[in-house]
Amino acid sequence: MTSGVVGRFAPSPSGALHMGSLVAALGSFLQARAQGGAWLLRIDDLDTPRVQPWAITRIIDALEFFGLRWDGPIVYQDERRTAYARAIDHLKHSGRAFDCGCTRREARSGTVGIEGPIYPGTCRNGLPAGRSPRSVRLRVDACPIEVCDAVQGVYTQQLDRDIGDFVIRRADGIVAYQLATVVDDAYQGVTEVVRGADLLSSTPRQIALQQALGLDTPRYAHLPVITDANGDKLGKSTGAIALQPTKPAAQLCACLQWLGQAPPNTLYDADIARVLHWACDNWALAQVPRVAEITRR
Ligand code: GLU
Repeated sequence: MTSGVVGRFAPSPSGALHMGSLVAALGSFLQARAQGGAWLLRIDDLDTPRVQPWAITRIIDALEFFGLRWDGPIVYQDERRTAYARAIDHLKHSGRAFDCGCTRREARSGTVGIEGPIYPGTCRNGLPAGRSPRSVRLRVDACPIEVCDAVQGVYTQQLDRDIGDFVIRRADGIVAYQLATVVDDAYQGVTEVVRGADLLSSTPRQIALQQALGLDTPRYAHLPVITDANGDKLGKSTGAIALQPTKPAAQLCACLQWLGQAPPNTLYDADIARVLHWACDNWALAQVPRVAEITRR
């Protein structure tokens, strides 16, 4: 692959792939492959309490079943702990991150931002006497952070007002998703992050981390999340549409439809190589509906 474009799919192995995650996998695959780029697979298995050991094989099998072939070795976040520790040390030494001794309850006593309470700043200028470090937080500022998203348009947050100093290493020692993602996207040379719109509100935090670590910001495209008629995300929770063990072409075509592409009827029972070939040749990110959610009737 010589185009320099690198995409990735980064599932959390907390359950099997479902129709919603297949849409994200397919969208990121096509965005990379249609530009002659590489497409990488990373297993986001850091949050050990949520990891289901059987899910890793199931996810890999499902990607193969749908013909979504990745390049190179699979990266497991579990094996990347040294890189995360190094990044956290760097942020602490440069004064961008600080140790926090607050309990979860204390940390939640501030005003409410868009994802819950804003950290009240208790340990921002040093741990109060008698406190020991529990978590590590990134010190955020009042500078607006703009995401120019290829699907959702411009999305802006002002982190001090909207999110607050956020956790990059949890009190249980687990590295937070935001930090691990940024370190790994840079490590894997990712140029195009294509994922579900439920992660759009994480993106300004990831950009703040990229800036603090001196890393490039990739291009972002947040695809609509598929919801059922009750508005349940077809994610890991209740409304997930399970993938079927038969008819991969028809399921890929359904995903293409949700992504605003118009696969011809003849592809619904074609072999998957033909479907993916057509999808690569005809992929138009501009046709993806510019909404955060699509309700499945
Ligand atoms: N592991 C995350 C998830 O499965 C996605 C991470 C990402 O694409 O940045 O929701």
